[in-house]
Amino acid sequence: MIKQKHKVNVIVPNDYPDFLTWMKGNNDVIVYNKEKDKAEKLILDSDLIFCLDFNSLERIFDLGDIISSSSSKKILIDHHPNPTNFYDYSLHSSKAAATCELIYDFIDAMDLMKDLDKSISECLYAGIMTDTGSFKFSSTSSKVHRIVADLIDRGVDINKIHRLIYDNNTINKLKLLGFSISKRLNFLEEFNTAYFVLTRNDLKRFKYKKGDTEGLVNYALSIKNVNFASIIIEEKELIKFSFRSIGRFSVNDFAKDYFNGGGHKNAAGGRLDENLDVALSKFLKLVRENKQKLIY
Ligand code: 5GP
Repeated sequence: MIKQKHKVNVIVPNDYPDFLTWMKGNNDVIVYNKEKDKAEKLILDSDLIFCLDFNSLERIFDLGDIISSSSSKKILIDHHPNPTNFYDYSLHSSKAAATCELIYDFIDAMDLMKDLDKSISECLYAGIMTDTGSFKFSSTSSKVHRIVADLIDRGVDINKIHRLIYDNNTINKLKLLGFSISKRLNFLEEFNTAYFVLTRNDLKRFKYKKGDTEGLVNYALSIKNVNFASIIIEEKELIKFSFRSIGRFSVNDFAKDYFNGGGHKNAAGGRLDENLDVALSKFLKLVRENKQKLIY
């Protein structure tokens, strides 16, 4: 869009992990939580708002209220199922592996492939790589591989991007990982379920920073016969849940029905405004109630 001489501002609802800050344009990203007035003014003065990678304005909290009150045209580009109808135009497919796959399609449909340079390609590659679990989720179609092949032809160094994202750990992050696996991982064998519980003290002990628990839930999911995995984190003001499943158990439904959340069939999240004991009891009760759905 900048290449088309549009004036563009990127606004995110809250901060994102350090392993994404290498991306071109990072220094210009406005974090709504930190610069509310500036973000609000930009939104209300805008002509067009692209809403990327979320399917409902509720998902972005207060920022959603501002977007809702803006009279700008809104374009949704997203791959989460069942979007609510807050937009004027959309490029939506729940079959797409990543919103970046759809952004690639959008660039193509706008006949702007000539502008798809190396740094844009690197960002799209990173979005597709992370959302496909490094090309292993079943959403990784042959089309995804063709897009990635094109991005490589446009100059993406896949090893460099992989290292920037996955080999950029702090020692505290690795120690939290080790501690979580050895002390905070629970396996409910008869329910094909495994889950982590991390307390506020655990996070403090390992100097938790945003992104430090990213990917942790996949260790629970990697246990033989596990169909459902969760990580339950005691954050400052609420309990945050991440859910993952393999196969037919829909964590999207589970998150939506019981944890004020949502996401995809096999990857979702949610939150409870309760203390940790109450939240954990609720989770365990629901696992017991869903026993028949979890065994396959
Ligand atoms: P994660 O567990 O990695 O935070 O999120 C997994 C998926 O669930 C992502 O697609 C994310 O957008 C979605 N998700 C996470 N938390 C929530 C939530 O509270 N509400 C909704 N609707 N989706 C969520």
